[in-house]
Amino acid sequence: MHRDASLPLFRAFPAMGARLPRASLGTLPTPAEKMESVGARLGLPALYIKRDDLTGEVYGGNKVRKLEFLLADALRRKAEEVITFGYAGSNHALATGIYARRLGLKCTAMLMSQPNAQYVRRNLLMASGAGIELRHYSSRASLSWAVILRAIGDALRPRAARVYYVPPGGTCPLGIAGYVNAAFELAEQVRCGMMPKPDLVYVALGSMGTAAGLALGLKAVGLDSQVVAVRVIEERVCPRRKLFSLIQRTGKFLRQCDAAFPQLRIAESDVTVRDEFLGKGYARATAESAYAGELLETVGGIATNGTYTAKAFAALMQDARGGTLDGKTILFWNTYNSRPFPIGIDAVDYRSLPKEFHPYFRTEVEAQSG
Ligand SMILES: *Cc1c(COP(=O)(O)O)cnc(C)c1O
Repeated sequence: MHRDASLPLFRAFPAMGARLPRASLGTLPTPAEKMESVGARLGLPALYIKRDDLTGEVYGGNKVRKLEFLLADALRRKAEEVITFGYAGSNHALATGIYARRLGLKCTAMLMSQPNAQYVRRNLLMASGAGIELRHYSSRASLSWAVILRAIGDALRPRAARVYYVPPGGTCPLGIAGYVNAAFELAEQVRCGMMPKPDLVYVALGSMGTAAGLALGLKAVGLDSQVVAVRVIEERVCPRRKLFSLIQRTGKFLRQCDAAFPQLRIAESDVTVRDEFLGKGYARATAESAYAGELLETVGGIATNGTYTAKAFAALMQDARGGTLDGKTILFWNTYNSRPFPIGIDAVDYRSLPKEFHPYFRTEVEAQSG
């Protein structure tokens, strides 16, 4: 781990760079590229993609930017183990475990039930192969911190002194700082001509950290691009008001780290939340997401995930068809890992996982679920 002053956010706010712990896990900046072929199909001559699938050499996706701060904090607090939370197929739990292990930390992932999909099987096997301890827990699908801590209960308390809790999705002000930085990174790329300023930025909205960081960061860096956050988790789990409280709390936190960070007014209209692409719920494919995923993969050569990126892209495609994007510069923020996983999973037998996870391997997966 080393502290790297070259993050664009830290160049703008040096005192922040001195205060915030950071482990340099990722390969940043990620490219911002034009999507020629997909753009031509959709009638969008100015369609771009932010390649956060390439945030890490071993494992990419949006969680790496958050983990750079969170895992550095764990090390600074002399933790020996990190515990995190998610659904059974959690990309976040997998990313946390992979990078925690590389930093010499143990990792336990507390996972709750979700609809089955191919990637759930794959992620469970990868997590196990990466040396992550998997535990099942049930809750009423709530990601609320209090509920989760209660779910863990007394069993883990004796170990608590050496344990660092990474919140679901890595979403808390410290983790979100990674996406405030991402907005500053984009602004530099716009400034140096890698792409024009986007009018709209489409991104999947899960635990809401990515969208919150981008919205705050774009405003702080002075880019008036509109974030279009496409909901992939039910409102009752991640309510809209949480997005705005995360933005407020992160702004406050960053001002505490560096008083020069601007006090910004973020209105609800600064982020467009799109609820209509969720379909039947989290990890449930829709006809639109299946089609969007296929187009991205076959025409764009971009790996997609039916739970997240395919739904975000489905929203972009519908808006393109409706003509509301005509003449605009559009950025699709790709949040899904595209690196091939380094650990062979063929050798992992699902029966070595806790029994609560066995049904994912025995029951059918929804067609086109990704
Ligand atoms: C976690 C995740 C998201 C959602 O990001 P949040 O910050 O939780 O909103 C989007 N895409 C992929 C592929 C993810 O794994």
